[in-house]
Amino acid sequence: MTKVLMSIISKRAQAISPSPTLAITAKAKAMKAEGIDVISFGAGEPDFDTPDNIKMAAKHAIDEGFTKYTPTSGIPDLKSAICDKLKRDNNLDYGPKNILVSNGAKQCLYNILQVITDPGDEVIIPKPYWVSYEEMVKLAGGKCVLLETDDFILDPDKFEQAITAKTKVLLLASPSNPTGAVYHKNVLEKIAEICVKHNILVVSDEIYEKLIYDGEHVSIASLGDEIKKRTIVVNGVSKSYSMTGWRIGYCAAEEEIIAAASNLQDHSTSNPNSIAQKAAVEALTGGEETVGMMRIEFEKRRDIMVELVNDIKGFHADPPAGAFYLFVDVSKAPGYSGSNDFCTRLLEKALVACIPGSAFGEDNYIRLSFATSETNIRKGLERIKEFVENS
Ligand code: PMP
Repeated sequence: MTKVLMSIISKRAQAISPSPTLAITAKAKAMKAEGIDVISFGAGEPDFDTPDNIKMAAKHAIDEGFTKYTPTSGIPDLKSAICDKLKRDNNLDYGPKNILVSNGAKQCLYNILQVITDPGDEVIIPKPYWVSYEEMVKLAGGKCVLLETDDFILDPDKFEQAITAKTKVLLLASPSNPTGAVYHKNVLEKIAEICVKHNILVVSDEIYEKLIYDGEHVSIASLGDEIKKRTIVVNGVSKSYSMTGWRIGYCAAEEEIIAAASNLQDHSTSNPNSIAQKAAVEALTGGEETVGMMRIEFEKRRDIMVELVNDIKGFHADPPAGAFYLFVDVSKAPGYSGSNDFCTRLLEKALVACIPGSAFGEDNYIRLSFATSETNIRKGLERIKEFVENS
């Protein structure tokens, strides 16, 4: 970009790093458009269609003219369905004033970080982390404190040691993207105790809650009144109901926090799409049959992928307990020299798109999504094996 143009871009915007995942996915798309048979393990969304009952609810909303502005923070029937869900699934008691519905969990996270972070506040993020967290914290003026983990789980003692007078927030994702790691209740209890002791807020990203294969989901907010007061639960319908394009996420927290975030949303996007809100009511109240089927299918693919990956020279991955990603240690693969270079070569030479671990703060890894068919998994991993072992 020329100097003249750079000068009109705010320092804040200049500081945003370009998404490292986009470079690879854009290249993979361009290759596909040229007719090249690329297999992609880049997907960040379920490869299943949105269930019919949810689509019907949206069609009905259009037909009945539910196409106007709604209250910024969400329609009452959706907030009520969210409160019922939080009670049913997470044993959490919230009322409508504790809920904000936004354009995806992503906007919830953005809003929340904007309203709880002051310049210089430290936000602790366990590594590896979802790529947008770091940029969102930076945009809110906060300082990211990236912490090493053990087997992708934050050690409570190491967490406590990292706390300073400036620590304001812990950003926790369970199940995690990119690792699929799921926090056990006993670890969450220790983390919660530390947060209460040092008066630290927890932003708890629970977007992959319904996709767990080993263990169970526990919301840290459910571990007592004191931690609940300090927690902002973030969730949504994107992953659980295969509704990534509909853009409905929600968060639950103390009224004061929700009011501030809602005020911010008032002046940015206003309400999320009215039709999608009606569809989300159906998603949350219409039964869990399809998500159950999706979970079973993902688990089957996970097991196949783990077996095939560990059969490649220099590759290692343990089965992830949740989400739909395998985070693979490839540092011992022949000729390995960094995840960006490795993924570029995999794409160009083996025609397989994977996401470099550098996008998540771990350069020794690559992320493979199993939100793709078993046929693609087998074919793609065969190509990778052939490339890694014979080139
Ligand atoms: N958190 C994590 C960990 C995610 O992986 C994603 C989506 N990739 C989101 C939040 C955002 O989800 P949504 O589509 O609801 O904005």
